[in-house]
Amino acid sequence: MTFYSLNNPNIVTTFKYAVIAGIAPDKGLYFPESITPLPVDFFKNIEELSNHEIAFQAIRQFVSEDIPDGVLKEILENTLDFDFPVVEIEENVATLELFHGPTMAFKDVGARFMANCLGYFSQDEKEEVTVLVATSGDTGGAVANGFLGVDGVKVVILYPSGKVSDIQEKQLTTLGQNIVAMEVDGTFDDCQRMVKTAFLDEEITAQKKLTSANSINVARWLPQLFYFLFAYKQAKFQEKELVFSVPSGNFGNICAGMVAQKLGMPVKHFVAATNVNDVVPKFMRQGTYNPKPSIATISNAMDVGDPSNFVRIRHLYQNDLSTLQEHLSSYAFTDEATKAAMKEVHSQTGYVMDPHGAVGYLGLKEYQENHPNTYGIFLETAHPVKFLDVVEETLGLSPEIPPQIQKVMGKEKKSNRISSYDALKSYLLDN
Ligand SMILES: *Cc1c(COP(=O)(O)O)cnc(C)c1O
Repeated sequence: MTFYSLNNPNIVTTFKYAVIAGIAPDKGLYFPESITPLPVDFFKNIEELSNHEIAFQAIRQFVSEDIPDGVLKEILENTLDFDFPVVEIEENVATLELFHGPTMAFKDVGARFMANCLGYFSQDEKEEVTVLVATSGDTGGAVANGFLGVDGVKVVILYPSGKVSDIQEKQLTTLGQNIVAMEVDGTFDDCQRMVKTAFLDEEITAQKKLTSANSINVARWLPQLFYFLFAYKQAKFQEKELVFSVPSGNFGNICAGMVAQKLGMPVKHFVAATNVNDVVPKFMRQGTYNPKPSIATISNAMDVGDPSNFVRIRHLYQNDLSTLQEHLSSYAFTDEATKAAMKEVHSQTGYVMDPHGAVGYLGLKEYQENHPNTYGIFLETAHPVKFLDVVEETLGLSPEIPPQIQKVMGKEKKSNRISSYDALKSYLLDN
């Protein structure tokens, strides 16, 4: 299949080169030329299919010219070796737990799928590919883990010194091999600015093949549609109309869910739940898109002031606001409301939500107020232990640290401390 730039439909490329480049030459996001619905029987009999089979059938049309079926199956086996349970916590309210992967963040699936694709593609490329990525916390760990040991690919991760949690820092600084951590004296915005500058720096790009590993990259974005299919398989027997509520930052995850709907998955509605970074909720009400600097919140993986994937969602609905409103609602919530929801759900049901999942829960409840006869699923995007301080302070309890996190806690941190773009540049030119 070919992919075209959302800035200019005449700029086209294959899946392979969309993955290697990350973004189109005109800085547009790549989008698949077509989305062909899966056969009706696929959804009718989905409970008879394994997760690997579901994923294979769903992603095949997007990649098949560049990845042979046998290789794709292997990639999916490497990517999907953990569970995605739907857990009911109240009547008509369930959570889809996406935190059972190696770094306990939902980004594990996208990062591993992309790493495996890039590893396969770089077998016949002579030049090493360098993945350059800025992280405010969770992306770094998932990318580091996904790309560890992939031949022909080097990963350089920039993170703001002192501004990620201990667990997150260990996850991205202790692996070694082809993973390098750059500890930046500055904020996440500084890290992101350095990465963007490097992509535009011809002295670097003349020598190095750089790509990004955020959800702009189609190989990180598209596999997220699996989650919604896995949830559908588990919730189908409810025989009620399904609603998904997705805690959203860059809007890649929810956009992938909307692609699953285009593939024919029966779903009534999507809810994009945000923290006070409310550019999209405002747009959905008023029709004007006003990006602004991000505001820090307790659900910090969603502190995004100009969500990169929202253009893909608008494009799915031909930039027509009223059609989009039929399929998508978007609501914003404060930290106070988020903490109150964490407390209430814990005291009523015993379930411990992390702050991101709690925003998703709130979005679902708001929608269900006017649509009570639906079955709602909100996505839990991180294990509560990843946001330990907030969970401890809000609920007065300490979730047990799972083995995959304990494993990295004892390892030695290795980072390169930098305070300027020039330091990053010399590192990239010399290594
Ligand atoms: C990245 C992230 C999100 C936001 O996902 P998007 O696809 O960027 O909307 C939500 N929760 C957690 C825990 C995350 O790490």
